Amino acid sequence: MTEFGENKDMGNNQPGLNRDMELVLKVIKLLSARNLPLNQKLDQSLGMILDGINAENGSIMINSDDRTELKVWAATNKRIIGKKQGVSTESISGQTFLSSQPVLIKNINDHPQFAPKSRPGNYRTNSLISVPLKNDAGDTAFGVINASDHRLDSSFSRNDLNLLLDYSAWISPILNSSLLMEDLKREKEKYRQLSFELEIKQKELMISTAERSELVQMVVHDFKSPLSAVISNLELLSYMEMSRDQRPVIATALDGSQKLLEMINDFLQLARLDQWQESDQTDDIFIKDMVQQEVENILPTAKAKSISVEVISDHDLKVRAHNSMLHHLLNNLLTNAVKYTPDNGTVKISWIPKQAKRITDKCSSIVELCVEDSGQGVPDQMKKAIFERFYRAAGSSHIQGTGVGLYISNRIANLMGGKIWVEDAVPHGSRFCVTMPSAEVGHAR
Ligand code: ADP
Repeated sequence: MTEFGENKDMGNNQPGLNRDMELVLKVIKLLSARNLPLNQKLDQSLGMILDGINAENGSIMINSDDRTELKVWAATNKRIIGKKQGVSTESISGQTFLSSQPVLIKNINDHPQFAPKSRPGNYRTNSLISVPLKNDAGDTAFGVINASDHRLDSSFSRNDLNLLLDYSAWISPILNSSLLMEDLKREKEKYRQLSFELEIKQKELMISTAERSELVQMVVHDFKSPLSAVISNLELLSYMEMSRDQRPVIATALDGSQKLLEMINDFLQLARLDQWQESDQTDDIFIKDMVQQEVENILPTAKAKSISVEVISDHDLKVRAHNSMLHHLLNNLLTNAVKYTPDNGTVKISWIPKQAKRITDKCSSIVELCVEDSGQGVPDQMKKAIFERFYRAAGSSHIQGTGVGLYISNRIANLMGGKIWVEDAVPHGSRFCVTMPSAEVGHAR
């Protein structure tokens, strides 16, 4: 700890505390004040310190992070506050800072290095003091305190230098931590600003992604009408008289266009699924009505293949589901049943109430709905894979498809809090079952 200088005021009326100590305590208290900005604290404490050594003028300079500059944080000459000076031994502050040693110049005119004849006009007064502000370890300086223009004598004494060194030693640690706090505050503000900007960018990105996907959906949707026109004209052509060479060309064109239309529909289905997922809305739906509507939709296709579609269950049950999603799921299962069943086959739809067994089920009561067909069935090793995106079971390649329908159905079942799977039908065919939460009163968990 630095000892106090010889300038003791023995007439101090507080025993044990000399005038210098009082001043140091005042400066420390000021620097520790929470409600003042650091530059104001430094400005006021500089005034007190300069009074303590009877100096008219002075400044406090702090180094930059890379130790190449000293910035004026406080000064009696307010015009130089905020100014920066490159660190070099050519200036007194630079010399003090780099050497970490105090400088006392009694008469600058006699000084070999800083005398005005070599550097005219740099210093107005003859006597100056510059002391380092040292870091906690005491080996390097982080700034300097300068004092000039003694109010009473023509020059500063060694006592004045010692006093300033004492002040500097006392205030350095607290000033150092105040500066660190200031740095921390700045960093915190920087990160706050950064995270704010990041949040805005993220929102912009989300909006632009949503806008882009909406635009793509609109464009893709617009492909449908011209493509449908191409398909109907190709169909018309295929009924007309044409040569043997022309027939396969038309057939390939028709096949390709139908495939393209199916892909467009799948793409739009997937896009719609994302929208539904966001809406997070559920309805209480009477299963019988919905099945009836979907059966009516599929009947023309079924009739074309002489497939009978039977609704086995008669009782009505209420389920909790997203209306459009459930329509979509039923449509997928019925379309597949008719598509993968040969002519003259049968498709049966049934449903039953059940007690939920899975821990993840949202309700204690569920409804299990099954669509059974008399088609080729799904081999055991493919029963899981058919629910993956673009997966088509071997043996289905002669039937038009894209492998997206069951993937969407599976996602819908999961979104509704249910499950979907396929089992074998007896004597042959497949039975696709899906569970969903019951909406019957008193069943909710
Ligand atoms: P897509 O029918 O367009 O190929 P899906 O995702 O609906 O796509 O079906 C995936 C695969 O599951 C089909 O390619 C087919 O192999 C098989 N599959 C679906 N439904 C049935 C069914 N009712 N009977 C037999 N196989 C089916």
